[in-house]
Amino acid sequence: MSYDNKFQVSTLAIHGGRVPDAQAAAVVYPIFESATFEQQETGLTKGHSYSRASNPTVDALEQAIGALEGTPQAVCFRTGMAAITTLFLSTVKSGDHVVLTDVVYGGTMRLFREVLNGLGIANTSVDTSDLEAVERAITPETKVILIETPGNPTMKLADIAGIAAIARKHRLLLAVDNTFLTPVLQRPFELGADISVLSTTKYIEGHHATVGGSLASNDEKLLERLRLVRKTIGAIQAPLDAWLTLRGLKTLPIRMKAHSETAATIAEWLEAHPAVARVYYPGLDSFPQKALAERQQTTYGGMLSFELKAGPAEAIAVMNALKLWIRAESLGGVESLVTHPATATHADVPVETRHKLGISDGLIRLSVGLEAAQDLIADLRQALDSVFGGKSERSANHEVCQQAG
Ligand code: PLP
Repeated sequence: MSYDNKFQVSTLAIHGGRVPDAQAAAVVYPIFESATFEQQETGLTKGHSYSRASNPTVDALEQAIGALEGTPQAVCFRTGMAAITTLFLSTVKSGDHVVLTDVVYGGTMRLFREVLNGLGIANTSVDTSDLEAVERAITPETKVILIETPGNPTMKLADIAGIAAIARKHRLLLAVDNTFLTPVLQRPFELGADISVLSTTKYIEGHHATVGGSLASNDEKLLERLRLVRKTIGAIQAPLDAWLTLRGLKTLPIRMKAHSETAATIAEWLEAHPAVARVYYPGLDSFPQKALAERQQTTYGGMLSFELKAGPAEAIAVMNALKLWIRAESLGGVESLVTHPATATHADVPVETRHKLGISDGLIRLSVGLEAAQDLIADLRQALDSVFGGKSERSANHEVCQQAG
């Protein structure tokens, strides 16, 4: 896995796309909170004219994300969904068809159902862990495949290099939503993807403070088109949020390492717990696609899900008993979050479809933050004990917990 000939990833995240401040040589690039920019002479700018088209602080973030992705300057958006919307408005038209991962982010499904389908853009949702199923879903009208790996919330993986080969054979664009792992843990372009999608809301900014999105590509013509559509629909990132995201990005590699280590410890602890039926985490030996995770990821990331042997009522009771974990949607920040997919992220998905995708009503999703593993496990233990009457205590669990500290 390579990032840049010169730098290791932790250096690259800080210096890779660093833009010097020409005016005061500030080490931290400033926030240019300005809607418009003065013309030196009529029509002659210093590179920016209006912040719906471009902005110096947004540019600085785009340089940094591009450096980390290993691409030219990325294109940044007000939200992850603004990025995904711009991607499709730029690459498909009425009559075209798109192939999507069946467990793609619910907002992406809603975009197709509520907006793009009505504009004549069709889609097929397919199990992208099955390469033959991906190829079967392609029609003469297909233009783009968008995959999400790991998929939410069951962590099902898609073989990026395998799907890239199919996309090349059929002359399609392959976009990878890499929000869960970021370019630090998974390198879509080295595996043959054409476009990388990030909700920067999540790990990139990393502090649950902003919403944002980015698209990266090596295709300069596509990048130009994305910028034109972004300017046309008014979807650019705001300067302050770009600045906060740029600050977050600098610590991304060290955060991803910590998120992954703690998540692995918690996944093991949960798997050994008598009240837990199943844990979904690509780093566990029990995870059916662990070999693929080893092949295409650096580590296994900070997201995991688990199912209790008991039903949905007990799952909700366990969530309600948590004191340190915060019950909230979203993921990827320093605070650990717990979500109930059936009533939150996947509430829009019809119940039969949800169950077919393996998203049971008792599934609990964890976004593991940067708190001590020991404290996070202690909170999970007291919540499970409070629901199952202390029957869940086991000495083996103590050991894992103590190692984690
Ligand atoms: N992609 C993935 C994988 C997500 O989880 C999300 C949001 O949860 C998005 C895209 C959309 O991003 P945003 O909420 O920033 O619009």
